[in-house]
Amino acid sequence: MSRRQYIAANWKMNKTAAEADEFLDAFLPTQDGEGPEVVLCPTYLALHRVAERCSGTPVKVAAQNMYFEDSGAYTGEISAPMLLDIGVDGVILGHSERRQHFGETDEALARKVRRAIEAGLEPIVCCGETEAERESGDTDAVLSHQVITDLAEIHTDDLDKVVIAYEPIWAIGTGKVATPEQAQETIHFIRNLLRPRDPEAAERVRILYGGSVKPGNAAELLALPDIDGALVGGAALDPEDFGGIVAASAGS
Ligand code: PEP
Repeated sequence: MSRRQYIAANWKMNKTAAEADEFLDAFLPTQDGEGPEVVLCPTYLALHRVAERCSGTPVKVAAQNMYFEDSGAYTGEISAPMLLDIGVDGVILGHSERRQHFGETDEALARKVRRAIEAGLEPIVCCGETEAERESGDTDAVLSHQVITDLAEIHTDDLDKVVIAYEPIWAIGTGKVATPEQAQETIHFIRNLLRPRDPEAAERVRILYGGSVKPGNAAELLALPDIDGALVGGAALDPEDFGGIVAASAGS
């Protein structure tokens, strides 16, 4: 089974619209669409600008969160139709920073993932364990709960429309990278979690690794059989570094 690799830049709360423009000036001319799928995830305020500039290029654009209702009295939130209206292709859901700092729950995520799929947005669903959970041998239980609950409300036919990002929390922004063995083994475990619902979809779903991916370690991680790409934070802020990670992917 050949899965097209997927490299996403999570800019988190970084870059004004003008800074996003500077990134695009350097980055877009280097992208010919030949290798992996490439996705930029700016803040809401730069999203419109980035979506406009990426329109007609091979680079896709995703938001970093959304709410599951379409409109209404939900101060501070934005919805799937609003993202689609400005040309956004996808949305990161359940990043560990949202779970940690903003009380994101798996139950709310299940509704967000369902709404994203129904609306035609590609969800990048994040999961991952803390260092303490890994050390106490709870990684499998934590990931099973997250993945099974977060995907519970979508139809099995839609399973392969989801991109999953496995991001061990202890490796995010810390410079600590999961060893290739840990990353491969854990992502293989996540793929196996999907098999009871649909073994063929489980083979088709792209599962990314995230956690201190850099140009220097990307090729080794991306060459592993179950790893279908990367969700990149810090190293995605610089067009050359992010371009180096994209170039490290063979594409499939
Ligand atoms: C992330 O934010 O999803 C991430 C993996 O960050 P970093 O690459 O900086 O560890």
